[in-house]
Amino acid sequence: MTTEQKQQDDKMQKIVAFCKRKGFIFPACEIYGGLANSYSYGPYGAELKSNIKKMWWKKFVQERSDIVGMDGPILLATKLWEASGHTEGFNDAMVDCKKCKKRYRADHVVKELTGKDMEGDLAGMTNTLQGGLKCPECGGSDWTEVKNMSQMFKTEMNAVEGPIYLRPETAGAIFVDFKNITDSMRVKVPFGIAQIGKAFRNEIVARNFIFRIREFEQMEIEYFIEPETKWEPLFEDWLDKQTEFALSIGAKPEDLRRYEHPKEKLSHYSKKTIDTEYNFPFGFGELFGLAHRGDFDLTQHSKLSGVKLEYFDAANNKRYTPHVLEPTVGVDRLILTAICAAYTEEKIEDETRVVMKFPYGVAPIKIAVFPLLKNKPELVNKAREVFDSLKSRYMCEFDDNGNIGKRYRRQDEIGTPFCVTVDFDSLEKDDVTVRDRDTMEQTRIRIEGLNGYFQDRLDR
Ligand code: ATP
Repeated sequence: MTTEQKQQDDKMQKIVAFCKRKGFIFPACEIYGGLANSYSYGPYGAELKSNIKKMWWKKFVQERSDIVGMDGPILLATKLWEASGHTEGFNDAMVDCKKCKKRYRADHVVKELTGKDMEGDLAGMTNTLQGGLKCPECGGSDWTEVKNMSQMFKTEMNAVEGPIYLRPETAGAIFVDFKNITDSMRVKVPFGIAQIGKAFRNEIVARNFIFRIREFEQMEIEYFIEPETKWEPLFEDWLDKQTEFALSIGAKPEDLRRYEHPKEKLSHYSKKTIDTEYNFPFGFGELFGLAHRGDFDLTQHSKLSGVKLEYFDAANNKRYTPHVLEPTVGVDRLILTAICAAYTEEKIEDETRVVMKFPYGVAPIKIAVFPLLKNKPELVNKAREVFDSLKSRYMCEFDDNGNIGKRYRRQDEIGTPFCVTVDFDSLEKDDVTVRDRDTMEQTRIRIEGLNGYFQDRLDR
């Protein structure tokens, strides 16, 4: 391991421990020994997640007259997954080390050991591994044959014959409601349908904290276009919008890069696919995907359901099956991006301050309110009044525990942009001290002007 890799590894470990200690992200079911790398979001993590989802909805639904939202179910008709090809083909290649029994995603371990991308070539991967490659865990070189394993989670439903699947992506729920949306809403091509929701994939190896988990959330848009339209500028525009969104949650431009899937690896229906990757401490990994999927989905669902899924262009009196651009992103990966980008250690005199430099919109708590002293009822009451006057507009926290310096540090650690302190002067002059997370500057502000002060800074 190089020194730089070691530093990045340490950073990741620090972040995982920090997330647990500060109430952002906990290992799920810890009291029962955990469950296969799953996680729950604690109080600050849940706020962070909700903020990121709201920012996305605002940018891509609320502020766009060409995109509508929807919210479909997790359990969907099994035929849908036959039509999309998931039942047959949503597989990952797995391989086991016979000596230590560790299971790997075959293409990942081959890439790690040889640098070669052999995804999809099961026989080739088997030969390469069995040709003497050593297990990174135990050094053994006895491998099983590489086999495909379905990523679909199966369950059953009363009154339904055969298996039901937990959706492996949210997109399917959008396509099956294409007709309902075009019939009920006044949408005109080009238009999009957006959805946020859970997806489930039985990943062979869940790893890298919340980067690869088996139950996660996606934010997807199906953007329908006229088949003959010049799609390239629209595609470019979506890429830019994805970058803009990454920057708005705190990613730095130098930590983002794009990866275009080579033509020979694209599905037969796709004209182009580009991932936007983020430089996590464990290396670059996919954050957003953007694919031109042609008319594959609507045509397939039409075929298997027997229901025409077309668009009628009244202005030109023509009927057609639209093509679709699919911008997609994982909420959990965005959360990890926001956390990695915000995590900062600063030396102040001889102390190290951990500060989460979240953009204001992302920060779980926007304002913390403190009475200078806990045992002075007049200060506590006044601070409560200030808290009450701010809480309906902003997520606030009241804290009267410990000295002011400690309280500032606690808020820095969770990324709270502003702290408000009520002291003895406040009782006479009706003003408070507002302290800024990033500059640590303190300003006296009149209580009656506080809402306006924060609106100028937080509601932009
Ligand atoms: P990967 O190559 O990393 O497995 P993918 O190409 O299979 O990802 P998509 O099918 O394009 O991913 O899914 C859309 C988005 O959902 C991804 O860009 C990613 O942000 C998110 N995502 C996919 N799988 C997971 C997972 N196991 N855990 C968390 N997020 C995920």
